[in-house]
Amino acid sequence: MTIRRLAAPLCALAVALSLPALAQDNQVLNLYSARHYQTDEALYTNFTKATGIRINRVEADDAGLLARLKSEGSASPADVILLVDAARLWRAEADGLFSPLRSKVLEERIPAKLRGADSGQGSQWFGFSTRARVIVYNKATVQPSAVDSYEKLADPALKGKVCTRSGSHPYNLSLFGSLMEHIGPEKTEAWAKAVVANMAREPKGGDTDQIRAVASGECGVAISNSYYFARLMRSNKPEDQEVVRKVGVVFPNQQSWGTHVNISGGAVARHAKNREAARLFLEYLASDQAQVYFANGNNEYPVVAGVKTGNPALDALGEFKAELVPIATVGANTAKVQQMLDRVGFK
Ligand code: FE
Repeated sequence: MTIRRLAAPLCALAVALSLPALAQDNQVLNLYSARHYQTDEALYTNFTKATGIRINRVEADDAGLLARLKSEGSASPADVILLVDAARLWRAEADGLFSPLRSKVLEERIPAKLRGADSGQGSQWFGFSTRARVIVYNKATVQPSAVDSYEKLADPALKGKVCTRSGSHPYNLSLFGSLMEHIGPEKTEAWAKAVVANMAREPKGGDTDQIRAVASGECGVAISNSYYFARLMRSNKPEDQEVVRKVGVVFPNQQSWGTHVNISGGAVARHAKNREAARLFLEYLASDQAQVYFANGNNEYPVVAGVKTGNPALDALGEFKAELVPIATVGANTAKVQQMLDRVGFK
């Protein structure tokens, strides 16, 4: 979709929100973002075109943004914060870095389970895209049926075959916390211990490194967020295409509670000075057009019902039964999961 095609619907959005598009030329929005995708440029440009509000961006990784917000305290210029993963959203909410927002638009468009706690003044944060935590396998050495559930990663049949990034990474803490919710803490600890015993190597690198190691044969199976594989699927590099040819993807637990799905989301900053601009920006991210850009920027799934991204990689991976990690679960289980991982030597 071109920028030109987006402009008209966005003006319609501004009208729908009863805000004269050009009445706010002097306004500024300070955005702290853990996202850094080229396609996001179109999001910001079109928001400014539609509202007249300029965007100043601070980009850093999630941990960097959270540290910066804490050190800035009430002097922080941040108006909107964009983070990835429920564990980080939970952490930021628990640390009091967000302020609640009441928005009819967001409440109508974003399902309640994809919004943060509402204690009467609106939600603490809003999800804008989702990602699935899938299992990838080497097509030559592993059958997909051997990894059709997260539980099977502990199966002795996979001895010497399992690879993963650090267990302490938020993506894994969220997944393990979710597993704990389903099978209980004792079984989860036994599972984690058995997964460690099955490892092909010590946890290292990111999810893409695991996928490459599965393709090379160093690992037989690995856990990865869906967008890392989708990114490789959409790459024109011959070496990436080679990886995609050798690796299969399983959406685990389709016969039980569903594949673990996580959230990328945003919130109004605790000390936001431009609250109205912040509200408009978050509402804009929930518009059909922005949802397509936001999701496609990182090969994720949109949160607004009926929005189709037309992403060829995600279309090829197909539909699946999803289980969304409840933020309260992440909050309650993260510390326990970490202690468990320490006990069983899951690095
Ligand atoms: Fe990631």
